[in-house]
Amino acid sequence: MIVPAVRAKLIFFILAFAIFNVPAGPAQENPAAEAPAAATEAGAQPTAPALLDSRVTATQDRARLVLDLTTPTEFAVYTAADPMRVIVELRGQAGDGGQDNQPAGDGLVTAYSVEAPGGERVRVTLSLAGPAQVQQSYILDAFEDQPARLVIDLVPDTAENFAANMRGAEPAVEQAEQEVPPAELDGAQTAPGETATAIDSVRPLVIIDPGHGGVDGGARATNGLEEKTIVLAFALKLQNLLVETGRFDVALTRDTDTFLTLSERVALARQNQADLFISLHADSFDQQDVRGASIYTRGDLATSDLDRVLAENENRVDLIAGFSPPEDEGAIDVLVDFLARETRRQSYLAGQALIEQLEPSVQLRRFPLRQADFFVLNSPDIPSVLIELGFLSNSDDTANLTTDAWLDRVAAALARGVAVYFDGRY
Ligand SMILES: [Zn+2]
Repeated sequence: MIVPAVRAKLIFFILAFAIFNVPAGPAQENPAAEAPAAATEAGAQPTAPALLDSRVTATQDRARLVLDLTTPTEFAVYTAADPMRVIVELRGQAGDGGQDNQPAGDGLVTAYSVEAPGGERVRVTLSLAGPAQVQQSYILDAFEDQPARLVIDLVPDTAENFAANMRGAEPAVEQAEQEVPPAELDGAQTAPGETATAIDSVRPLVIIDPGHGGVDGGARATNGLEEKTIVLAFALKLQNLLVETGRFDVALTRDTDTFLTLSERVALARQNQADLFISLHADSFDQQDVRGASIYTRGDLATSDLDRVLAENENRVDLIAGFSPPEDEGAIDVLVDFLARETRRQSYLAGQALIEQLEPSVQLRRFPLRQADFFVLNSPDIPSVLIELGFLSNSDDTANLTTDAWLDRVAAALARGVAVYFDGRY
């Protein structure tokens, strides 16, 4: 699947190719329910998962349904008209059922109801303010104090598309009524889009930049594990997931334990005309209670003093490794300034898309989308974000950063976020 294709000046670039996927068919069947492995557990009669809680948040631009469950389950999503609605069917048990609920916020979804029609089925009906399509739907396993979750994101659609999806909806309803064999579900397996189509000739290039490396170990956990090692392993995970979608070319600034200056990282992104640059870190703070994932975009005025100190420390790593500190390029001409403004807007949109996908999966820092003057976010022409996966100065974060299940979960969420960002951009 992964094909070494280009050797850049400083490093190997790993490019990979697969079938291109498009989002939103008429109905989104949970693919894991159809996996061959699903049929092998005949005889076992597991208790149906119980619905613990349901909530909807809605704006004009998007809506999200989150169902908290005791365990992952099978589900199907389809649309219906007169009135326009999205219906989610899942195998499970609901307490009372039948109640009408109001979403938080005002927008795409005006109300929703939860019913238990019997036969270990739960039906959630979302009333729509206008035509919409399912952008993505996925299951998350339980983790830490979070229950298992079914997450469904909706975005506005044209009336024509909505009607076209409707015509295909009937068979999906039939299918939803059939007995669905129990399956072990994995959130990482689901991604936006399920319909195979022609290979897109120009895929966006995502460059992932694992922070630090070589003589620069970055932050260090109390157990001795170094930031450079954690972020490199994570970068490879994220690369694999993005490559599997078939939508992106994905390269790393380093795929070994080597030192790169900050300028070299930025230069790699610019020389290769990356469409998105993602720098990965897991730094330390003096305040040990600061924890959770956060995402930074470039800003001369840091969100807080802590953010400013974090960026200043990060910008000094070249010095620590014996290189000159990087310097800003000084006077910026009008064209570059114009580019930079659009790039900052794109960087912010990317950060927002990534945070939105992280939110149901993992603990985030308070106000998780932040700004600080990180040098690696400097490119005037490449949308760039820096992700602090967590803080090695916090023991809970350190435990997560060394737990495969947590890392998989975050990588899956970020891969979804990258797809959502590019869905909106093109
Ligand atoms: Zn770092």
